Amino acid sequence: MQGKLNVQTENIFPVIKKFLYSDHEIFLRELISNAVDATQKLKTLSTRGDFKGELGDLTIDVKIDSKKKTLTVSDRGIGMTADEVEKYINQIAFSGVTDFMEKYKDSHEPLIGHFGLGFYSAFMVSDKVEIFTKSWKDEPAQHWSCEGNPEFSMEEDKKHTDRGTDIVLHIADDCKEFLEEGTILQLLKKYCRFMPVAIRFGEESVWVDSETDCDKDGKPKRVEKKQPRIINDPEPAWKKSPSSLTDEDYKKFYHELFPMNFEEPLFQIHLNVDYPFNLTGILYFPKVRKTIDPNRNKIQLYCNQVFVTDQVEGVVPDYLMLLHGVLDSPDIPLNVSRSYLQSDGNVKKISQHISKKVADKLEEMSKAKLSDKSDESDKSDVSDRTQLEEKWDDIKIFVQYGMLTDEKFCERAMKFYLLKGVDGRYYTLDSYREKIKALQTDKDKTVCYLYAANAEEEHAYIEKAKAKGYDVLLMDSPLESHFINLLEQKIEKTRFVRVDSDTVEKLIPHDDSIPEKLTKEEKEKLQPIIEGEIDKQKFTVQLESLEESDAPMQVTQSEFMRRYREMAQTSGGGMGFYGELPESYNLVVNINHPLIGRVLNESDSEKQKELVHQLTDLALLGNGLLKGEALSKFLKRSVEMI
Ligand code: ADP
Repeated sequence: MQGKLNVQTENIFPVIKKFLYSDHEIFLRELISNAVDATQKLKTLSTRGDFKGELGDLTIDVKIDSKKKTLTVSDRGIGMTADEVEKYINQIAFSGVTDFMEKYKDSHEPLIGHFGLGFYSAFMVSDKVEIFTKSWKDEPAQHWSCEGNPEFSMEEDKKHTDRGTDIVLHIADDCKEFLEEGTILQLLKKYCRFMPVAIRFGEESVWVDSETDCDKDGKPKRVEKKQPRIINDPEPAWKKSPSSLTDEDYKKFYHELFPMNFEEPLFQIHLNVDYPFNLTGILYFPKVRKTIDPNRNKIQLYCNQVFVTDQVEGVVPDYLMLLHGVLDSPDIPLNVSRSYLQSDGNVKKISQHISKKVADKLEEMSKAKLSDKSDESDKSDVSDRTQLEEKWDDIKIFVQYGMLTDEKFCERAMKFYLLKGVDGRYYTLDSYREKIKALQTDKDKTVCYLYAANAEEEHAYIEKAKAKGYDVLLMDSPLESHFINLLEQKIEKTRFVRVDSDTVEKLIPHDDSIPEKLTKEEKEKLQPIIEGEIDKQKFTVQLESLEESDAPMQVTQSEFMRRYREMAQTSGGGMGFYGELPESYNLVVNINHPLIGRVLNESDSEKQKELVHQLTDLALLGNGLLKGEALSKFLKRSVEMI
């Protein structure tokens, strides 16, 4: 029989061929998906008892014939009768393509997945496509053939007696790469790695014990043996029930997914929903240390075990893009553009669900105590810690990112977020406030949280704060300045102050001021003496009444200025003004210190200058700001003075 396909235009094939040019390769996914569907349908018919014959080996075969320049996909599924070929291939499939082209012909946005082209995507790479098919029903096999124009031929095929379908592609000259074993293997690994029916392609070598040859010790020799290569894992971990999997199984699957990632994931979340949308998958938490990992695109999106894409923007909230793993959902529309995807109701629900599950998991870990078997000697201490504490340093930045970008997640995370003290202890936000409230509330009833960004560099300040009975937090992530702003907004009557941003008395201003030893006139005399010896662009002199036992001079940096400069540097644009501010410091002069009295009363102006230099250098030294030539001069002067 000869026929004409039901199309309006004569030249739809060249259009198919040009369409999605860069994505030619998806034809293989489409054909194998069809073969998988046909096989699954047969299994269903068999379990329902409609099909009573032998299922036999249902493995799908992919074969290359380089002489004939063909690529063949064969399945042992339900096959098609003549009527079905007419209906599904000549009419339905084709109208599907026409619809698709009509809908997307003006679209300039990349489509996600490109599902919908189906069987006809074979013409993107072929001059001619043949179908040999024999239905599971007792009807003759059919041979259908089409050369990339609207004419096709179909006839009974007496030779073909086995149930199932062979799709034979006569690969076009400009698509020769699809006749290479390496190319096809790579594509099968990309798109079909977890398809639910075994797929066979080529051969692979395995090493086995020889049945005939032994070595000197009488042990069988190891010999290389060729065997058919199965390219997929038909039962990936995410499709199994969580209760049947151990932590080891999850780790093993992680390495199966990402063979090039050698680090172990920290923990995982197994997703398994079937109402109101269908979603399965496993998301792993990798270690996220100092940087917001640029290594994104580590979440693979599948549709019923068929790989769609590893670009999941829009499907998962931005901060969760840092996770690794797989998502599988038939409810994500796959042949639409990204902007449409983000407005899709199901996608929104899925995205919210994932975010909720992540918060659930973290909350659960914050409650779960560590088992005390890890360290006998330190039993009481260890068993009191939570699983979250153990992993906190590796995921903190991720939680901060989530809290900064997702309102709902933030609300929940406020309950389990952990602050870390410079001594290495962890506290929830509530328990920490309780701990510091008594000593660290200032005269305006604001609770002051002291923190250091670098415990080593700010050591002297930390010690001073501790001596006063204050607690100091370690806040050292690159997002910290943004995060501190967030906490100040979320928790009422809260202020964060870096330990080196003021003298310890002023970090948390209380009402008890210390009497001043200098008169107003003396202070007015002192100010220019000191200002005359320092870089006024960089330092502002601040005379203060401190304890006699405090240092004569100290260098501090305003919390506000420093934080905004840092935020501008990590935000990129928008806060430009702050980023351009020069670094500026305060030189705090303790007017009650005897040495300051000496400066004021020194009549020899050379000696006075020397004394001021020595004192400012000491203050700079305490802050790690005295370097290079200035440091050498200071050392020399010190020796001379002694
Ligand atoms: P879709 O798979 O999205 O329905 P296709 O164009 O890929 O669209 O296929 C159209 C129809 O042709 C299928 O729904 C199926 O009924 C039939 N078909 C395609 N390939 C096979 C196959 N290998 N075995 C049995 N039927 C098939």
